[in-house]
Amino acid sequence: MEANSNLVIMVNDTAYKTIIKELDEKKVTLVAVSKTKPVADIKDLYDVGQRDFGENYVQEIAEKQPLLPADVRWHFIGHLQSNKVKYIAPFVYMIHGVDSLKLLVEINKQAAKNSRIIPVLLQVHIAQEETKFGLDEKELDDVLLNTGGLTSIAIKGLMGMASFTDDKETVRTEFRYLKSIFDKINKNSATHHLLLTTLSMGMSADYAIAIEEGSTMVRIGSLLFGKRG
Ligand SMILES: *Cc1c(COP(=O)(O)O)cnc(C)c1O
Repeated sequence: MEANSNLVIMVNDTAYKTIIKELDEKKVTLVAVSKTKPVADIKDLYDVGQRDFGENYVQEIAEKQPLLPADVRWHFIGHLQSNKVKYIAPFVYMIHGVDSLKLLVEINKQAAKNSRIIPVLLQVHIAQEETKFGLDEKELDDVLLNTGGLTSIAIKGLMGMASFTDDKETVRTEFRYLKSIFDKINKNSATHHLLLTTLSMGMSADYAIAIEEGSTMVRIGSLLFGKRG
């Protein structure tokens, strides 16, 4: 039985140490994506120093948050419905994947209610697949031009997901496109009154390419926690 007890530790801390060393050298932030994984797995990674964790589902993040230390930085990386913002507004560290002005307005409202300023990333549609969420460039501009009155949010940057494909060049092209939009906004920062610092792109399968293309924050799940069921 003793030998078996090791098998329940699903977190791959060798992978963690390798990844975190590589990312630290490049000043890239690791968000460990713990969706569907038990609190014990999160605690294992917390105990070796990880603080940024990403979750996709409102109910799940709200259930896990009180069970883990208060200094965990919870990133919401899923598709967020306006009517659910209130459940995460008291504690969420950053909301990735914001893709409408309506959602921004609601985040602003709930942040104010909690006397907070919530950092957000706007999601840009970069993949070829129709199904992926996100703003196109024109919609992004429209959103940026209409956020002036929203004083309880801080737009920190952009987030994007590349196509699910083995074709590395397609993935690279999509990440490069997102970086070019990021740079363009910063070049026009006088118009938008905003300087972006965070570019959230790259997952287990494509984070190396994302970093080569300028990512500052990667969201890695299965490489750290094992495949999801
Ligand atoms: C699940 C998820 C990830 C992590 O995916 P892995 O392939 O397990 O690394 C990253 N970003 C988002 C938005 C996700 O939903």
